[in-house]
Amino acid sequence: MLTQFIETIRERTTQPLQLYYDICVRCGACIDACHFYVESNDPAHIPAYRMLLVKKLLQQAERSGQSLASWYHESRPADQRMVDELKKALWECTGCRRCAVFCPFDLDTGLLVSAGRYALQQEGMGLDMVAEIGNAEVSKGEIVDMIKEFYIDQVKELEKRLQNEFAPDLHIPIDKEGARVLYVPLVGEHAIVPMAKIFHAAQEDWSLSLFTATNHSFFVGDISKAIQAARWIVEEARRLGVKTIAYPECGHATRTLLQFFDKWFEQELAGIERISVVQLTASYLEQGRIRLRAGAFDTPLTYHDPCNLGRNAGIYDEPRALLRAMASDFRELSPNKALNWCCGGGGGLIAQPEMKETRMKGGLPKVEQIRRSGARWVTTTCENCKTQLNDLNQHYQLGVEIKGVLDLVSEALIL
Ligand code: SF4
Ligand code: SF4
Repeated sequence: MLTQFIETIRERTTQPLQLYYDICVRCGACIDACHFYVESNDPAHIPAYRMLLVKKLLQQAERSGQSLASWYHESRPADQRMVDELKKALWECTGCRRCAVFCPFDLDTGLLVSAGRYALQQEGMGLDMVAEIGNAEVSKGEIVDMIKEFYIDQVKELEKRLQNEFAPDLHIPIDKEGARVLYVPLVGEHAIVPMAKIFHAAQEDWSLSLFTATNHSFFVGDISKAIQAARWIVEEARRLGVKTIAYPECGHATRTLLQFFDKWFEQELAGIERISVVQLTASYLEQGRIRLRAGAFDTPLTYHDPCNLGRNAGIYDEPRALLRAMASDFRELSPNKALNWCCGGGGGLIAQPEMKETRMKGGLPKVEQIRRSGARWVTTTCENCKTQLNDLNQHYQLGVEIKGVLDLVSEALIL
């Protein structure tokens, strides 16, 4: 039992992860940081307990006979109870890293969860739906030439519609060599429309990517597939000769772009800047390349910091600058920024239908924050958070509306 898991986790145990096993002093400072634990009181949701489970399993596997070292080992057998706890500990985590902020040693649960999820996958205990979407993202690069013409036709239809509805000279360039910015969207026109309007207003020289930014292999800790999926985008950027790769309102994808691309691609990215569209749009505003109607929205609204854009990438000020430029009643959630509560829907949980109950429970601290703010609109800059917040809104009858910051920007643009 758990042979594959143990073998894989040993292979994936890097020096930082080993330090995590060794350094944790079980002070408990991370316990109440986790939204899943505060709502469940289940020890499997305690960040440090996750680590301890894996450590005990590894030490059990290492025990052969009774050596002097065995005295110091804490171990637990690979029985069914262990399997159930491991599955809960490693899959019911959104990778929000709120616990790491509270840890006096900066110990990062995300490291263990990534390795542990991949190891569970090898044992046949994975989140199949998430892994399958990840596989589709990897294989898209192999069929992109076959679907390219169809995709371009669809984009041209959308362009015509926006020319009628928004601006007759708006264009959606695609596969454009020499463009300055390569914009990599999400699946669906909702991620193209606001950016097409913003790029038009800013007179940006851009091109729409043939790919999408999401990377579900990252969620299941399958790093070689995550790199493969991201490589299509890097190759496209190099082929077109762009200066900047811009990622959409998507937390985990933005995290891969800003925090992992350097390590994954090193020299292949030389000279290519990487940026979130939230940062890019805020820079247009700051440079006067776009103008927004002051007071365009007077509904009381708040902003939810997506963990991957805020805590994990430091993007706090840019969305607030955009909101303050167009909303007259902006209210902060408390706590916010680095201490913001996770919405409870990250880490790939949204894509796995049986995780809905876990998500709704884990989202309760967020629900209480929203209620306390008195806001009628909840804005954010992550697709995943929007879906979770919509589900929470419905489930707990919050009576709010969930809005994308860049959707609002596209509505408040002065042309
Ligand atoms: S990363 Fe977030 S969900 Fe995971 S253990 Fe830490 S606080 Fe909980
Ligand atoms: S806060 Fe850090 S050191 Fe303390 S129990 Fe949690 S992981 Fe261990």
